[in-house]
Amino acid sequence: ESKKETLGFQTEVKQLLHLMIHSLYSNKEIFLRELISNASDAEDKLRFAALKDDSLYESDPELKIRLDYDKEANTITLTDNGIGMTRDDVIQNLGTIARSGTAEFLQQLSGDEKKDSKLIGQFGVGFYSAFIVADKVDVFTRRAGAPAEEGVHWESKGDGEFAIEQVNRENRGTEIVIHLKSDASEFADGFRLRNLVKKYSDHISFPVVMKSESEEEEEKGKDETVNDATALWTLPRTEIKDEEYKEFYKHIAHDFEDPLTWSHNKVEGKLDYTSLLYIPARAPFDLYNREAPRGLKLYVQRVFIMDDAEQFLPLYLRFAKGVIDSNDLSLNVSREILQNDSTVDSIRTAMTKRVLDMLSKLAKKEPEQYQSFWSEFGTVLKEGPAEDFSNREKIAGLLRFASTHTGESIQNVSLDQYIERMKEGQQKIFYITADNFTAAKSSPHLEVFRKKGIEVLILSDRIDEWMMGYLNEYDGKQFQDVARGDLDLGEVETEEDKKHKEEAAEEHKDLVERIKKALEDRVQDVRVTNRLTDSPACLVVGDFDMGAQMKKIMEAAGQ
Ligand code: ADP
Ligand code: MG
Repeated sequence: ESKKETLGFQTEVKQLLHLMIHSLYSNKEIFLRELISNASDAEDKLRFAALKDDSLYESDPELKIRLDYDKEANTITLTDNGIGMTRDDVIQNLGTIARSGTAEFLQQLSGDEKKDSKLIGQFGVGFYSAFIVADKVDVFTRRAGAPAEEGVHWESKGDGEFAIEQVNRENRGTEIVIHLKSDASEFADGFRLRNLVKKYSDHISFPVVMKSESEEEEEKGKDETVNDATALWTLPRTEIKDEEYKEFYKHIAHDFEDPLTWSHNKVEGKLDYTSLLYIPARAPFDLYNREAPRGLKLYVQRVFIMDDAEQFLPLYLRFAKGVIDSNDLSLNVSREILQNDSTVDSIRTAMTKRVLDMLSKLAKKEPEQYQSFWSEFGTVLKEGPAEDFSNREKIAGLLRFASTHTGESIQNVSLDQYIERMKEGQQKIFYITADNFTAAKSSPHLEVFRKKGIEVLILSDRIDEWMMGYLNEYDGKQFQDVARGDLDLGEVETEEDKKHKEEAAEEHKDLVERIKKALEDRVQDVRVTNRLTDSPACLVVGDFDMGAQMKKIMEAAGQ
């Protein structure tokens, strides 16, 4: 046995602990779900590792999670016989936060608890949530396959440091002892704990076992399984309650808010798999970080294979979470194999369609919910037209825009709504791009449209101009940038307008020549226009030239 060593938590952990303890106070009970979730993950990982090396089961092949409590000592103990941790694992997992961007994210903390508590939703909670109810936590663990002497004891009061020492541990896996705060003693209670397990962890894949408190002498003290212990996605849809879908989401997504919607499907035939997909309500803080974890949890024939299997969804749907359980893939499947596997490709095509359909349905049935989805994830979906050619039309139908119709910056106009409002004779969908909404809205390019009462979509996200490069038409109607090329208003332009324009061109020929000379190489051409009603002149981009926004992006990238 080695002597105890005291180490400091990484700064980010300290901040997170502080945030969690103060903002989740009224949500205390979620600590149990988080710890059971970790235990279940650890069992999953052991079963996966044992596919290659079944000696890892040692003499204890029955995977289960044990929950005990001691009213007198005011403690709860959660024990799993999963994969366990080495000393290095413990220091890494229970002393730091490895997600990149965490420090920057936590710097936004304002000290205002109400505001800050919203941030935690973007972060997820996890192990450290134990300190919402604990004034001290002990973790005893041993990695499966390691000798008994390589057990580890970690302990902390959650106040900035933790102690770690080597101990002897016969059993593999992890035991967590929660020393409850005096105001959390309600949790050292069999009835309360059973209820919480039922409520939060009924449908994880492993049994949660407690000692029976039955009145009957026969039963009393014997192990009893307190959850259902069948993986949720394996059950028929009709037997699953909404609450159960929501709780399961929280287990797999490391989120503590309810999802917006989900879709559960069993597919049989040429392909044989079950999928359960969710749309979260809130974007994680690292949604735009290329290295952030994304993808689905992959199971093969009910056996957990890996987290974050990226190959089942395109990048622009990276906000979707869920489980895919395939009967066609091999248990030996690896990330490399997933990358060029035709079964995976087919599932990915189907998953993509499912997510898009789920969103269309949400947009139709719950427009307010969809609007909230859009404000969280809209800019990600905007990567779609470029990434996924075959679903362009479908994605376009899901886009939402600011528009001159509402005159407000909120993006809530769909292309279908735009088309419904198109003027008699109008053939194109008009849009304008600019750095920001205000600049776009006051652009002289909009003058003629205002005069004619034609709606123009206002695009001011950084990605918009780039996205429009991949969208040519929707519902058979072409998109037209109002600041580009010759403006063709279709039949909305009357004969009179045309005649007027020709006359004006003739009349101002000399003026145009003089302006051309004065500007020389700085412009390609100078023309008389019918675009303007109040402003004397405006700049127009050629049909095939880079737009102003795109130019800025390229300049910023050093091009
Ligand atoms: P997450 O579960 O999202 O990864 P947590 O904060 O809940 O984050 O846990 C951090 C890490 O600690 C886990 O990823 C896992 O590696 C490790 N861990 C936590 N609990 C256990 C456990 N019971 N058995 C093995 N490893 C665990
Ligand atoms: Mg966790």
